[in-house]
Amino acid sequence: MKYQIEDINYMVSLFCPGKCVNCNIWQYEKNEITNNEIEIEIFEKTIQSKYLEKTNYFDLTAGESQLSPKYVEVVRVISKYKKDAFLHTNISGWYPQKHYEVVKECLKYISSKNFRIDISLDGSKENYEKVRLVKNGYEKVIETVNLLKSLGIQIRLTMIVYKENYKDIPWLVEFAKELEIGYFIGYSRNAGLLRNRDKIYSYTNNELKEIESLLTKVNWLDERRKPNWLWAKSIYKNSVPFFNCFMGSRSLVIDPYGNVFPCNECLEFLKMGNLKDFNGDLDLLLESKKALDVLKKVEKKECQPCSMLCAHKIEFPWGKQVGMIGS
Ligand code: SF4
Ligand code: SF4
Repeated sequence: MKYQIEDINYMVSLFCPGKCVNCNIWQYEKNEITNNEIEIEIFEKTIQSKYLEKTNYFDLTAGESQLSPKYVEVVRVISKYKKDAFLHTNISGWYPQKHYEVVKECLKYISSKNFRIDISLDGSKENYEKVRLVKNGYEKVIETVNLLKSLGIQIRLTMIVYKENYKDIPWLVEFAKELEIGYFIGYSRNAGLLRNRDKIYSYTNNELKEIESLLTKVNWLDERRKPNWLWAKSIYKNSVPFFNCFMGSRSLVIDPYGNVFPCNECLEFLKMGNLKDFNGDLDLLLESKKALDVLKKVEKKECQPCSMLCAHKIEFPWGKQVGMIGS
C-alpha cells in the first residue's frame, strides 16, 4: 500500500485577529480568509477513510483555530470515529476564557490525557513583547495556562527561537518547571502558511553557536530533537542537504479549504487534490493520479532543498526526524 497515514494535520481555520511580527496571517480580513472553508460534513466523511483506519494523531492548527465555530465540532467528529485519538493544538493564549470554554466543551468528547495544548510563549515578558504584539498578551497567556491547568489536560509552553529571544531559552525551561507544565522549543522559518516568505532569518556563526550551547545546557538536544536543530542550522547557513521525505505517504495536511498536501509547506505543485471535489472521500482523492504523482515528486525530491522545519517524517543524513524514530 502506498499510504500508511499515521497522523493528520487539519488546519481548522486560518483566521487570527492577533498580531505577531513574524507572521502575516492577522492582516487578512475574517471574511476573506474563512470564505470557502470546508463544512464539517466533508470532514466527517474524510475521517471515515480506509486510509485513516490506523491514524490516531490529529494536529488541529492554522491561525487561531479555537476561535473557529468548527473547532469543537471537529473534535466531536474525530472522537466519534476514533475512540483513542490523540489531539494536539497550538494556541496563542490570548483569549483565556474562550480557550477555557472550548477545551472544557471538547472534554465532553475526548479524555484529558489525550488532549495536549501548546501555548506560544516566546520568552520573558520583555522579549515576548518584541515578537507578539497583542496588548497584555503575556499576561493573557499566563491566565490561559492557569485556566487550562485546572482542566487537567497536557500543556506545554512553546518557544520559537528568534534573534530577539534566544537568550531566553533557559528562562523558558525554568518558567515551565515553575508552572509544572511541559515546554517545546522550535525554530523560526519562512512559510507560505505564515505568509512571511519574504522575511529573512539570518544568524551570525557566533549566534548559532550560542543558541546551540544554550540548547545543550538545558538538555534539549537529545537523540529525538537534535536532528531538527541540525536541520534549522543548515537552513540558516544556507546549506540544507537533500534528504528522504515520507510526508504525503505517512502524514497528510488538510488546509481549511479542503486542499490536501503532504506537508504544511502547502506548495501548489504538491496539491494532491481538494476534498470538495471528492465529496470528502479521501480514499478516492489519494488514489487519484494527481495524488500519486505528488508522492513521486516527493520521492524524487523535486520539492527540495526544503526548510519545512515542522515536517516530521524525514530521514536526514545525520539521523531521523522525530516522527520517524522507532520506525
Ligand atoms: S503567529 Fe499565530 S498568533 Fe501570531 S498572527 Fe500568526 S497565526 Fe496569529
Ligand atoms: S521535502 Fe519538504 S516540501 Fe517536500 S514534502 Fe517533504 S517536507 Fe514537504
